[in-house]
Amino acid sequence: MNSTYFQHTLARNLTFVGRGLHSGLPVRMTLQPADPDNGIIFIRSDMPLFQSEIAARWYNVTDTRLSTTISSRFGAKVSTIEHLMAALYMCGIDNARIVLNGPEVPIMDGSAEPFVRMIRQTGSLQQNAERRAIVIRHQVRVEEHGKSASFLPGPVPWVDMTIDFDNAAIGHQKLSVPLDRDLLDLDVSAARTFGFQEQIDTLRKLGLAKGGSLQNAVLIGDNGVINPEGLRFEDEFVRHKVLDAVGDLSLAGMTIVGRFMGMCSGHGLNNQLLRQLLAQEDAWFLTTLSGAEKYGTWTQGALPNPEKRHHQAAI
Ligand SMILES: [Zn+2]
Repeated sequence: MNSTYFQHTLARNLTFVGRGLHSGLPVRMTLQPADPDNGIIFIRSDMPLFQSEIAARWYNVTDTRLSTTISSRFGAKVSTIEHLMAALYMCGIDNARIVLNGPEVPIMDGSAEPFVRMIRQTGSLQQNAERRAIVIRHQVRVEEHGKSASFLPGPVPWVDMTIDFDNAAIGHQKLSVPLDRDLLDLDVSAARTFGFQEQIDTLRKLGLAKGGSLQNAVLIGDNGVINPEGLRFEDEFVRHKVLDAVGDLSLAGMTIVGRFMGMCSGHGLNNQLLRQLLAQEDAWFLTTLSGAEKYGTWTQGALPNPEKRHHQAAI
């Protein structure tokens, strides 16, 4: 069977050193191989062992202001996981232990590119377990303040994102891309996070963006982009929103076969959509990725009976 149907882990340990975008704190983070079906697990090495582990799953998301934060029941938390999660998805890493000595993933250059480059250099190992998939049967939609996020049935994983900002430097941007690992890498991995100069004081009072600089974010002022090097893509902003969505949706813990449509959707709505989807059991079924491909040209009538679908103990 094709290797894309199997779970993968890292070939060996890989360490990153940097600072958190919001906390501004220095952090050392080591990505380690993990067993099949473990998923991605964050471990706070600066906390006692019994409380240090947090599974990177949708139900552990506790804060979505400007970044995605996950927390354990025992008080451990890790912020700004989304770019690393997107990089792991793009590199096909299903299982890894992410050991870090602080509360936030290093921001690197504000994109996923440094993570993707180093993970690809390190390499991955195929494991003896199949990848699982959630196949969307019916539309699921969440909305808030004129913004929305939906999943629709579709033959392959796909992301559509539209953003609309009053600021002329951004304006209206749209991107529609298959969730194909290599294409995503090409299209979105280098797109940087962005922020507005007028919001910096407010954010810092809230304890956010303390580590932000022109080295790790695109800053937009009254007269457009402030960074002297300009943009990496003409539509870098919507590309970054797709990158964020890829990271946020990867918290499902498996491939979602269907079409994600985001209308100005950010971390909060992305997580609400996953919660809504997984609560609405008639809207999807679980299978292996190889099994999902058989439904590549499916119609409603060709779908298996929901009663017969394969239930996992923990989603
Ligand atoms: Zn982001």
